Amino acid sequence: MAKIFCIANQKGGVGKTTTTVNLAAGLAQIGQRVLVVDLDPQGNATMGSGIDKRKLETTVYDVLLESSSIPEAKARAEKAGYDVLGANRELAGAEVDLVALERREARLKAALAEVGPDYDFVLIDCPPSLSMLTLNGLCSAHGVIVPMQCEYFALEGLTDLVNTIKQIHANLNNDLQIIGLLRVMFDPRITLQQQVSDQLKAHFGNKVFDTVIPRNVRLAEAPSYGLPGVVFDPTSKGAQAFVDFAKEMVKRIETMK
Ligand code: ADP
Ligand code: MG
Repeated sequence: MAKIFCIANQKGGVGKTTTTVNLAAGLAQIGQRVLVVDLDPQGNATMGSGIDKRKLETTVYDVLLESSSIPEAKARAEKAGYDVLGANRELAGAEVDLVALERREARLKAALAEVGPDYDFVLIDCPPSLSMLTLNGLCSAHGVIVPMQCEYFALEGLTDLVNTIKQIHANLNNDLQIIGLLRVMFDPRITLQQQVSDQLKAHFGNKVFDTVIPRNVRLAEAPSYGLPGVVFDPTSKGAQAFVDFAKEMVKRIETMK
């Protein structure tokens, strides 16, 4: 059965989508069956997987409204080797459409339950907010991966996220836990980043992943080619770090019940 992870952080531009598509590609490379769910109406994970969001006939929106199933709605990221439940602007309307419906926070969970046997990992790329969409992601997941830049305000935002996850754990999803904090866009030459990194380890201990993702321009260039960096330039430092992270995640799930 698939282990389901949300890539979440309510801040924008912190590396959620980059983490989602590159972890997916890294996992695929080491033989894991992966589904990426794009829960952001911007559709960056969809485009970054080489799937044109404007041409999609079915997306995660149809799955949330139960007019389509995941096997019907998914697409294939051919070069990267994983499946994608894509998103486009239509998804922005889901927020309003879901309000009137019952089980509105558990729609994605129900759909994913049907495809659990088909995958080893489901990675959900969340929008930068705590919306009904993110709530659907968090209610579906076994755990949350939090990408973060080691900057001063990063710790402040983290407290809100940790409290939100605690509440969802208590009220809606007993499985939910923070799997780990992933340091991304890391530049070891910047003293402040080292200091924040040390603080993170002091506060969160083994909840901080061993792997560190460096700031690497190849990772930033890759989406314009419709590829995760891991596929676009496998020899780059960024790509190699994400393959290491994929291996670390495989080890982590072995220790999860
Ligand atoms: P989010 O999904 O949280 O909004 P993105 O993954 O889209 O964040 O990343 C924001 C920007 O930073 C993008 O332009 C992306 O290409 C760039 N980026 C992300 N990770 C790295 C990295 N490790 N090195 C360099 N650029 C990065
Ligand atoms: Mg994003």
